[in-house]
Amino acid sequence: MKDIEFPIFKTKISGSKKKFDLTDVKERQAYFELKAGGEIKKLREYLKENTFIVYLLGKKNSGKGTYAKMFKEVVDKDKIEHLSIGDLVREFDDIWENEEKKKELIVFLEKNYRGFLPLEKILDNLKNRNTKTLLPSELILALAKKEIAGMGKKALFVDGFPREMDQVSYSLFFRDLIDYRDDPDIFVLIDVPETVIDERIKYRVICPLCQTSRNLKLLPTKKVEYGRKEKKFYLICDNSDCKGARMVTKEGDELGIEPIKERLEKDEGLIKRAFSLYGIPKVLLRNSVPVDKAKNFVADYEITPEYGYQWDEKKKKVTITEKPWQVPDDSGVPCYSLMPPPVVVSLIKQTTEALGL
Ligand SMILES: [Zn+2]
Repeated sequence: MKDIEFPIFKTKISGSKKKFDLTDVKERQAYFELKAGGEIKKLREYLKENTFIVYLLGKKNSGKGTYAKMFKEVVDKDKIEHLSIGDLVREFDDIWENEEKKKELIVFLEKNYRGFLPLEKILDNLKNRNTKTLLPSELILALAKKEIAGMGKKALFVDGFPREMDQVSYSLFFRDLIDYRDDPDIFVLIDVPETVIDERIKYRVICPLCQTSRNLKLLPTKKVEYGRKEKKFYLICDNSDCKGARMVTKEGDELGIEPIKERLEKDEGLIKRAFSLYGIPKVLLRNSVPVDKAKNFVADYEITPEYGYQWDEKKKKVTITEKPWQVPDDSGVPCYSLMPPPVVVSLIKQTTEALGL
């Protein structure tokens, strides 16, 4: 990110020749055990009696959810919850036809919502939600409180709050609002180059049948087909129920980050704002490593590969090539993008430290 330098985290163990396939669940477990086994143990011990709150701040599509879910999987899936405010708000999209659920929400809000907009207006905004109508922070807080109360006491990764500048101040008192007063809270700031976000969107494909999402360049399926007429390569959905369905680009994805430029700018402002906060521990994560420094900090298998395809007319088959994915970061420095696991190792170690374990 321009103006703020996130430190590069070393996950490479000098002299170690061990290699892991980080896309494989079992190998990934062994990887985490080797790289952060001690810290994982400390966190599990801590979570037996205690909780904490993490606020994830990163640009849209920076992988916040991926990192939080992986942390949860690796450390303790029963004691940690990933709370996505975006998902939470989307849940209300289909309650309007359901009289019972609708009534339950209204009763809850009548009791718990305090703010400057009348309740009818609030419900209207929630019902006719689009990217332009903002939901007031007071409503988001009330809904989050409701959700958290129903979870039982767990450590929380809050994803999507703060989302607006005024919410940064709210987040300083969030733990009081949800009765987590004595639990430590931590800001996790994530730095991902915009070129990385751009390509993640541009090459994203989904299965028209099961909606599974993949990436033609970065996360292919096992089988790839060539469409000779349109001279295009297609990923074939791995799900056997989909019977060889070709995965397709969603309309608008070819534009990459262009339509979300404003959002990305706002997110960057939020990260900078949080960076300047006093009195709250901060964990700094970065997804990219400059190419000329990579050798000292990360192992080759920790770098995200990019895939290329060629059609062999004679053999009638697709050949797949693989090389380290290289992109310029926001300052134009050539970088490699890391696979999620090394970023999560950094998250585990820094969180352990922030909790004073
Ligand atoms: Zn499918």
